[in-house]
Amino acid sequence: MGGLFAGNMLCRAGWKVDLYERVAGPLSDRGAGIVTHDELLSALELAGARVDEHLGVRIFERATIDRHGNIVASLPYDQILTAWSRLLHVLEEAFPSDHYHRGKVLKYVQQDNNSVTAHFDDGSRDTADILIGADGIRSTTRAQLMPDQQPEYAGYVAWRGLVNEDELSSAARDQLMDSFAFCLPPGEQMLTYPVAGKENATAKGSRRLNFVWYRPAAFDTELKRLQTDSTGHWHSDGIPPGAIREDVLDEVRSSATATLAPVFAEVVHKTPQLFFQPIFDLEAQKMVCGRVALLGDAAFVARPHSGMGVTKAACDAIELVRALDACPQLDEALNAYQTSRIKFGRAIVRQARNMGACIHIGSGSEHQRQMELRYRDPETLMRETAVSLQYLNLDSTA
Ligand SMILES: Cc1cc2nc3c(=O)[nH]c(=O)nc-3n(C[C@H](O)[C@H](O)[C@H](O)COP(=O)(O)OP(=O)(O)OC[C@H]3O[C@@H](n4cnc5c(N)ncnc54)[C@H](O)[C@@H]3O)c2cc1C
Repeated sequence: MGGLFAGNMLCRAGWKVDLYERVAGPLSDRGAGIVTHDELLSALELAGARVDEHLGVRIFERATIDRHGNIVASLPYDQILTAWSRLLHVLEEAFPSDHYHRGKVLKYVQQDNNSVTAHFDDGSRDTADILIGADGIRSTTRAQLMPDQQPEYAGYVAWRGLVNEDELSSAARDQLMDSFAFCLPPGEQMLTYPVAGKENATAKGSRRLNFVWYRPAAFDTELKRLQTDSTGHWHSDGIPPGAIREDVLDEVRSSATATLAPVFAEVVHKTPQLFFQPIFDLEAQKMVCGRVALLGDAAFVARPHSGMGVTKAACDAIELVRALDACPQLDEALNAYQTSRIKFGRAIVRQARNMGACIHIGSGSEHQRQMELRYRDPETLMRETAVSLQYLNLDSTA
């Protein structure tokens, strides 16, 4: 996603860009719901992506529902909720297809004073003035140039899934399909929001409900157990949805019945393909190394509570293109980019870490306890979860 934002914006600024993607086939069947912000919509425009009223589902409020199904707090908030595949489609459509090279796995990077060369695992290479490593949380570029900067497991996972609106009971449709809804079982957190249905349908009745359920999972015990398939194989870098064991899925469904509000439990039970993602923090100490710049999750990963992953990558791209435009010297431009985006990256990682403090087992530090108290309050949680940057005071984040 970040690579497409940067690629599109650089093309529009007159650069000659080639984009290399590891995955050979279409990426559109991946991902789930994505929260949009004003900043993301502006970035799509700058990238030349065509967005219209079909970008996603628009909602106007947030609500917190207790274990018994009562609404305990609500907040007006106007937001468009889209799907990862939808965003990807509009960005891919805008990028020149003859410069989009799929099935090319970056192996390593070589650079000197005049150029940088990307070497791919099929033996091919490409040389350019600048290389942007927008290769995600497990970035090959970062691993080579900054090997000591690794993602850090946050101690919990996010169970996720999508359910068709027409499969939900009328009670679940009434409570969940027109709002961003939260449920706060002890030590956990679940949220749901509507997204477009098949073929980007946004009409009532044909949408889908997206959910994210955060649950603690200690690394050496519970996470390992969750990531072990029925043959005993441990998928240390993430288990594919289809390989998650039936007994694990049954446990999750039983826990949903035991701990969640009835409509939230129904969503978990009716999800055809439950899957989970371990949650990580990543804070790179630098974003630039010679002619190479890191962008998006390759440099900073904020926990999903901030709902900023795609927006952050898009804003990195805006800043990079702006810096390249403003400074004739490449090194000055890249330094200006690094200075502004490191500050933001650190602040958003901290803010999202604070929001995740309430998802844990056992006791934490004094700071964690304070943050837990803060974000156990439904009003505060709803005011700060996945909101536009204008509503966050990142300068004050400790
Ligand atoms: C539970 C959860 C919920 C989330 N919810 C939201 C949300 O609501 N809103 C939001 O904005 N974000 C959300 N995110 C985060 C979002 O998915 C990412 O932050 C975002 O996609 C970052 O974009 P990126 O381009 O930096 O990295 P990625 O999207 O990961 O892209 C990296 C690309 O590089 C490719 N690649 C990797 N290695 C190589 C290589 N060696 N050679 C060639 N190609 C390579 C990959 O195939 C991939 O296509 C969520 C994340 C999680 C876990």
